[in-house]
Amino acid sequence: MEYLVTKRSHPTADEIYSSLVKEMPTLSRTTVYNTLNILIGANIVRVVTIEEHEARYDADITDHGHFKCERCGTIYDFRIDTDAIRTEELKNFKINEKDVYYRGICAKCLGNIE
Ligand SMILES: [Zn+2]
Ligand SMILES: [Zn+2]
Repeated sequence: MEYLVTKRSHPTADEIYSSLVKEMPTLSRTTVYNTLNILIGANIVRVVTIEEHEARYDADITDHGHFKCERCGTIYDFRIDTDAIRTEELKNFKINEKDVYYRGICAKCLGNIE
């Protein structure tokens, strides 16, 4: 949890395992997965599936969108107002999750950094 809160890089379970096993040699991948599932169940971590085959984990559960750079692979957070997104067709539905995913090339890779 501390790793997720301080890293904020939307790591995969493997990245979490590889970083933490250096400090905790007895750590297993199963422990990482089990711990993540507990944190997800407790609604303090959410899964980001911007790419179908790789789940990433995020300790920020407030409404925000994710942008993935197709060049450097970095995932950026951006603030969104989900209440401003019109979803009349779903007015009788119960929404459990709102995800906004964008893909493209980040400003850094485009050389657009001021
Ligand atoms: Zn980039
Ligand atoms: Zn995020």
